[in-house]
Amino acid sequence: MKNLLILVLLFGCVSNPAAPIVTVETVQVPSNTLTTFTVKSTLPYLAEVSRLAECVIHDEDFLKEIRSHKQFDFTDLPSLEIEKKLREYAPIIISSYSKRFSKTVAYRNIGSNIIYFNTQKNPRVIKEMVNTAFHEWAHVQGFGHGDNYAKGKENSIPYGGGLIAEKYVEKCLNF
Ligand SMILES: [Zn+2]
Repeated sequence: MKNLLILVLLFGCVSNPAAPIVTVETVQVPSNTLTTFTVKSTLPYLAEVSRLAECVIHDEDFLKEIRSHKQFDFTDLPSLEIEKKLREYAPIIISSYSKRFSKTVAYRNIGSNIIYFNTQKNPRVIKEMVNTAFHEWAHVQGFGHGDNYAKGKENSIPYGGGLIAEKYVEKCLNF
């Protein structure tokens, strides 16, 4: 009986150290591994836009270019703070709709985190669609460009950041 008790205690000691390791692994998952861009559409090109946008916003070279940017318009934040903000998790959904004879390539309702790509105007060149996805995501992150006319907005975060994002699409295509 005494031997059995010792055996139980021994097993107790062996199995215990495993438990804290599992806990530590769960805690250490960084928040930036959460998926920002998800798709609610069966269109393969939108799945690809989503994948590439996800890749670009986590690309360290892309983020470095954002923080190295002199100063974006329509914001008082220095570029270093903008980079920090872009690292924050803000989920967005890519979906689709169809509207003929419309110039709109994509839209998002104010306050919503769903981007609707017009299937009558897409697919376009992949990097331009990623630019669109980034543009709307930048709005979700709280960055604007005043009114809805594109002219003179080249250095806003949605437009300017979108152009920077375009540069890293090709790198992400190879992943
Ligand atoms: Zn916009």
